Amino acid sequence: MQPALAMRSSDAQCLSQLSEAGARFDALPDRYQDQGCSTLNTVQMHALQGDSGQLDVSNLGPVTCPVSAAFAGWARFGADRAARQIFGQRLASIQTMGSYSCRNVAGTSRRSAHASAAAIDIGGFVLADGRRISVQSGWNGSAQEREFLRVVQRSACRRFKTVLGPDYNAAHRDHFHVEGVIDGNSYCR
Ligand SMILES: [Zn+2]
Repeated sequence: MQPALAMRSSDAQCLSQLSEAGARFDALPDRYQDQGCSTLNTVQMHALQGDSGQLDVSNLGPVTCPVSAAFAGWARFGADRAARQIFGQRLASIQTMGSYSCRNVAGTSRRSAHASAAAIDIGGFVLADGRRISVQSGWNGSAQEREFLRVVQRSACRRFKTVLGPDYNAAHRDHFHVEGVIDGNSYCR
């Protein structure tokens, strides 16, 4: 095997962890993109495992394997379980607003975590009966919607390094931004 094709053992470990979590995904080839952006050690997730059955995930591009694994755990143990507790039904899908994007953090010259596919924007959740809970309208919506969105945000803060939502700033009024994998403290707003 050529050295360039050799997979780091931590990467291989992450892929097998993601498989064991029941995720359906394809591993993507490493790519250095233009302007300092990259998609290294990324996967394309197609579906995740909920407590009972498949959990769909929409509009997602490449995401690093560690962030994908954190997302798979949060989707099942954070979001799906919160849906059962609060709405009495399972979660059917998580609607994202994308992952990889070669751009800076708004208003800065610093590259966003999206520029290395280490962040996901989440816009809404669809319950088994088809009802949609969007971050934008649900954040100040019914008591159940408000509770659900705050519970899922708090559970995200136990898995991701940075979690930003509507309380952070106006740019996040319609989505949760989750980024990196927690390694000690998380930044959670
Ligand atoms: Zn984001």
